[in-house]
Amino acid sequence: MWHTRRKFIKETALLGTGAALSWSFSIPQLSTWNKPALIGGTPIMADKKWPEWPRWVAPAEEQKILQVLRSGIWSRADVTSQFESRWAETIGTKRCLTVVNGTNALITALANFGIGEGDEVIVPPYTFIATIMAVLANGAMPVFADVELDTFLIDPLRVKEKITARTKAIIPVHIAGLPVDMDRIMTIAREHQLIVLEDACQAHLAEYDGKRVGSLGDAGCFSFQNSKNMAIGEGGAITTNNDAFMDKCFSYHNLGLPYGSAVGTVASGSIILGTKVRFTEYQAAIGLAMLNTVDVETTRRNENAAYLSALIAEIPGIYPYRLYDKVTRAAFHLFPFRFMEAEFGGLSRELFLKALNAEGIPCSSGYATLTDKLYLKDAFAERRFKQAYPKEMLDFDDFVLRNKCANNERLCNEQAVWFTQNMLLGTKEDMERIAAAIKRVHAHADAIKKT
Ligand SMILES: *Cc1c(COP(=O)(O)O)cnc(C)c1O
Repeated sequence: MWHTRRKFIKETALLGTGAALSWSFSIPQLSTWNKPALIGGTPIMADKKWPEWPRWVAPAEEQKILQVLRSGIWSRADVTSQFESRWAETIGTKRCLTVVNGTNALITALANFGIGEGDEVIVPPYTFIATIMAVLANGAMPVFADVELDTFLIDPLRVKEKITARTKAIIPVHIAGLPVDMDRIMTIAREHQLIVLEDACQAHLAEYDGKRVGSLGDAGCFSFQNSKNMAIGEGGAITTNNDAFMDKCFSYHNLGLPYGSAVGTVASGSIILGTKVRFTEYQAAIGLAMLNTVDVETTRRNENAAYLSALIAEIPGIYPYRLYDKVTRAAFHLFPFRFMEAEFGGLSRELFLKALNAEGIPCSSGYATLTDKLYLKDAFAERRFKQAYPKEMLDFDDFVLRNKCANNERLCNEQAVWFTQNMLLGTKEDMERIAAAIKRVHAHADAIKKT
């Protein structure tokens, strides 16, 4: 018993975490020799209320939101423009355009880079389905380039292998808020004259080499959906330094009317084919309020993630995400790590998740594979796909084989475990409790397996 305590104290002390000393003695139920909750022990976080998300912590801003409500000006106008300026400034780009959501930010950006039928777009398989849907919505063909196991991010080597004469763009997805190896992606893109559209929908305020993601490629896309680190309920934005592209995006998002046309004026006549995916004034007012806290919250998530990561990296079979050397700040929309069944005495990931959940620590296995699902077959059956691609390219079974991504399959089917971003807004002690719970599950893996 004493040995285990000593060992843990030694480990945590080595990490410069003196705080761990106090709880390892004062909260006896944290010790690894107690039974896990799943097999009858007391949950390590039984009484825990994790920080709620989204959370409203801007009472001072409520007056401004009421002003918008009482003004009756609810379609896009000055408050939206103000939010766009602030978001461009926050990301470090010249321009920003808001749209209804992140999915439509991606669709709008791709469309206005001229990407459509007959084109290929290289995407990672480890992403939210919206990335792929945006490509297909424009009639373009998604081409999956596998991720690296230790970073969860698109592997530049695999990107290179997937380039063909049809390739027009790469969508690096900063999944979980972890920045992609952008230097290598940009080098490949320049070599082959490809557009780089960053999917930063999970990566608000993440930085690579001191620059915010969403400012590194030709354009970046953000989501303000309720679960995201900048939450408005729904909402999205495109960031860029390219004026001509952005003017076009503006027209497109406002029924093809010329750039800068005020909402409600149609006299000038539409100049391009467009759609209507405009933001609203009350979304912008909420966004301005959320901007007050996103930076402090991002710092908090980074501190907690670094601490938790160091604590759990000590546990056999637990491998936290790896950040590239040039990453100066991540966003941690998720805290991903890999779980190795073999090092947990053959305990399945499913039971591991169950055991952690029983300790009062919410976690999940994350994404399922999306390189092999029926939505692709449905897209390939469309007339525009049949007209734009040779028959071989539209054979679903062939597509699935061509786009097989072994690392992605291992992450989805065997290894990945996620904690959500709101947990990283907790305290240092919360992180210590998470680590203690994982240690306890590891120590009792055999007994859990027998349940
Ligand atoms: C959330 C998300 C999107 C889509 O954003 P919505 O606002 O939900 O439409 C796109 N890509 C990724 C990686 C996302 O996480």
